[in-house]
Amino acid sequence: MALKTPDAYVESLRSLRIRAYVAGERVDSVVDHPLVAPHINAVAKTYELAHRPEHQDVMTAVSHLTGERIHRYTHIFQSSDDLVKKIQMLRLLGQATGTCFQRCVGLDALNAIYAASYEIDDAEGTEYHQRFRSYLDRIQREDLMLAGAMTDPKGHRAKRPSEQDDPDQFVRVVERRPDGVVIRGAKLHNTGGINSHELLVMPGTALLPEEADYAIACAVPADAEGVIFIFGRQTNDSRKLEGGCDIGNPRYGVVGGEAMVVFEDVFVPNERIFLNGESAHCAKLVNYFATWHRANYGGCKGGNADVLIGATAKMTRILGTERNQVVRDKLVEMVHMNETTYSSAIGASAMGYALPCGSFMVDPMAANTVKQNITRNVYEIGRLAHDLAGGFLATMPDSKALENPEIGDYVRKYHTANPEYDVMDRVRVGRYIENMTSTTTLVEAMHGAGSPQAQRIVMYGQAAIDEKIAMADEVIGAEAHEPPA
Ligand code: SF4
Repeated sequence: MALKTPDAYVESLRSLRIRAYVAGERVDSVVDHPLVAPHINAVAKTYELAHRPEHQDVMTAVSHLTGERIHRYTHIFQSSDDLVKKIQMLRLLGQATGTCFQRCVGLDALNAIYAASYEIDDAEGTEYHQRFRSYLDRIQREDLMLAGAMTDPKGHRAKRPSEQDDPDQFVRVVERRPDGVVIRGAKLHNTGGINSHELLVMPGTALLPEEADYAIACAVPADAEGVIFIFGRQTNDSRKLEGGCDIGNPRYGVVGGEAMVVFEDVFVPNERIFLNGESAHCAKLVNYFATWHRANYGGCKGGNADVLIGATAKMTRILGTERNQVVRDKLVEMVHMNETTYSSAIGASAMGYALPCGSFMVDPMAANTVKQNITRNVYEIGRLAHDLAGGFLATMPDSKALENPEIGDYVRKYHTANPEYDVMDRVRVGRYIENMTSTTTLVEAMHGAGSPQAQRIVMYGQAAIDEKIAMADEVIGAEAHEPPA
């Protein structure tokens, strides 16, 4: 059975010779770096839960290529049921980690390239799809961690890729050879790339015929020559290094350990290229990826919000406010918003439909609605967490104050609420709420899988406004109304 253990995943990262910079310094081993380890722990959880018999149904699937049981994170969606199980898997993992576990980007990139390459071959007579199936076979057999690399820096936002003063603002082919291509540029906000085995590079936007050099989709080993990771920072990330009760989510990160990935003239051999110059097909590839990924947020953020709601409810017990009707009503409001986005994601999946290659796509209107609601509900759920946790969240003391013999007793005395709970518990829960409702988490909910306006453009396209006008005309009637006899 092709299921890696968590330890095997971590050890396999050790054998990669990744060129990575964390906090501005070159690191020899990302596995042992304390700022990267929390994100590796979250991915390791995806490997761990796949080995638990009680989670086999959601965490694994049967490969349509080999008939073998594989990790669901390497599976091509074969039915609406597969799409539903993916959302269930994300909620489960969100509950287990309280953070982003990163592998969904690679999964959706696998599916997007699988589906798009089939249609490109059909239209252009190329042979990308079969090539990709061979690549996929290895990914499934070795249960590899993939990162999708889509977001280009984009430079001057009013200019197209081909109009930029600096042509590297979008990843492009700078040299074509008989045995492959050389690519240059960078991808931003790259989730999990620094602890992945492979990067799936995709175009980030629709392209014109004259922009063929930017139309490149390919697989690049994370430790390929010329690949450089520059790790980003997260809210309060270094507090984990201090120990004590100020650590937020102690074992896992805040979001996905995002990095800038630079491709400094990286050679990609032909067998790893799945789109090369067919710019007319880039919009479809981008759209496939984004639609699947937007539905995901109802699952992963649902699991994350379960943990946040739990932490907030615990805080009300620490404060002694948990029986107050207004407090309960606000907790219900948090649950209501969370279940709304989760059920929309399940609905998007249940309404999935078959693509020409036979794999399944979520309903686009529902998927974009999920993500649009996430851009609001994650903020609103966080606002209610702040409301219920109180001003303490902004002014709470730290471990060192509690440990200081001169002032520790004052801190304890004047921060004790319900005496059943130690002040240390109050701070520990408060720090978790602080972490999961602060900038990194909120901005990721806003812009991950595309900024809000990107969803609204799709929603308008899907809304069939003319049909709705026709419905209104039919119901209202175009003629003067005669009263019923
Ligand atoms: Fe997966 Fe959610 Fe992280 Fe995206 S934000 S990679 S869907 S856990």
